[in-house]
Amino acid sequence: MASLTPKVGFVSLGCPKAGSDSERILTQLRAEGYDISKSYQDADLVVVNTCGFIDSAVKESMDAIGEAVKKNGKVIVTGCLGAKKEIIEEAYPNLLAITGPHALNEVMTAVHAHLEKPHDPFSDLVPPQGIRLTPKHYAYLKISEGCNHRCSFCIIPSMRGDLVSRSIDDVMTEAETLVNSGVSEILVISQDTSAYGVDMKYRSGFWHGRPIKTKLYDLAEALGSLGVWIRMHYVYPYPHVDDVIPLMSENLILPYLDVPFQHASPRILKLMKRPASSENNLQSIRRWREVCPDITIRSTFIVGFPGETEAEFDELIHFLEEAQLDRVGCFKYSPVDGASANLLEGQIPEDIKEMRLQKFMETQASISQKKLANKVGQILTVLVDGHQGDYAIARSKADAPDIDGKVYLRDGKLLKPGDFVDVKIESYDQHDLFAGPNV
Ligand code: SF4
Repeated sequence: MASLTPKVGFVSLGCPKAGSDSERILTQLRAEGYDISKSYQDADLVVVNTCGFIDSAVKESMDAIGEAVKKNGKVIVTGCLGAKKEIIEEAYPNLLAITGPHALNEVMTAVHAHLEKPHDPFSDLVPPQGIRLTPKHYAYLKISEGCNHRCSFCIIPSMRGDLVSRSIDDVMTEAETLVNSGVSEILVISQDTSAYGVDMKYRSGFWHGRPIKTKLYDLAEALGSLGVWIRMHYVYPYPHVDDVIPLMSENLILPYLDVPFQHASPRILKLMKRPASSENNLQSIRRWREVCPDITIRSTFIVGFPGETEAEFDELIHFLEEAQLDRVGCFKYSPVDGASANLLEGQIPEDIKEMRLQKFMETQASISQKKLANKVGQILTVLVDGHQGDYAIARSKADAPDIDGKVYLRDGKLLKPGDFVDVKIESYDQHDLFAGPNV
């Protein structure tokens, strides 16, 4: 007999921050007794969590909405693209509801309005750690929403609003629940991790009866006491980031810093409305390495920003050579609807942006190759993610899931996801390391 439990289909697009919103909605749906359907046809309605960061993400989100409309017909749209309601309504006028990002309550209200809440849901329908989209052994922990900066190429503040931090007790309770459910690595995310707590004037909260400030250092220290890998993402280069580096050298949190520098030319940084200067950034990198020589620094950059001259691009290349960063992502500037940078003069032709991207990536590739070569012969602790044939696929402390490299461990098929193991690095290729058992 067919189940009478109402079923909701779910499509989750976008960055880990959007993924974290999806996890909260999925958790709430299951807590209230809804089933999550794996197909459009079986679902009573479908929620699509969208991304609107760049034009290709907008297209992917619009296509996903279109597919849900075609295959199911009853669709609720949420997420970043939801902030551009008119565009969505014009293409799909018969949606059940459209909400912006970080809108758990609005999404649940729309679900309740169109699909009656199941009766008497038992409180144990959902595991305490909630529903997660990541593998069981690692999890993203979102500590705040929104951003107080106004970078000229970004529309996140207009979509998600100013910074709103979660209380420290809430964050720590979630982190502890994740660890108790078997998570071996927590990845701290937000739009601006360094600014955590600034909106709350760093107010103290209580965790296990102990006062802790709503502040990056205090959060890192408390998370570090949980005994799992703690990885910090989206750390804006404020001076107080220096305080966290000793926690890395003491191995309390991973010696890994994902810090978006975006450019090196002072004029371009100013046009981007980024307060940090490249000279300060280089000094910070030097200081961080003095305190924690093992630190892995990841950053992202934009080439072809409006008005970027050859000389300013060369400054960026020079910065890259000086900084010797471990991991780097680079994007060609692309105008996003609503961003103030669209109004700047001197938009760069596509072929020049492409040439600059190639040169940037070639410069970084040789730096990354040398960094990987230096690891040959080292003994590293890795975290197993899965398998490929006889190989265990793992990551070292220097590798965040999905964005960094992998460590392929031969004779590793008996290892389980979530296992930590010491391995000896034997060789490398462009992105990844190859290892054998540490015997
Ligand atoms: S720091 Fe800048 S790029 Fe990052 S979310 Fe805030 S405004 Fe956007």
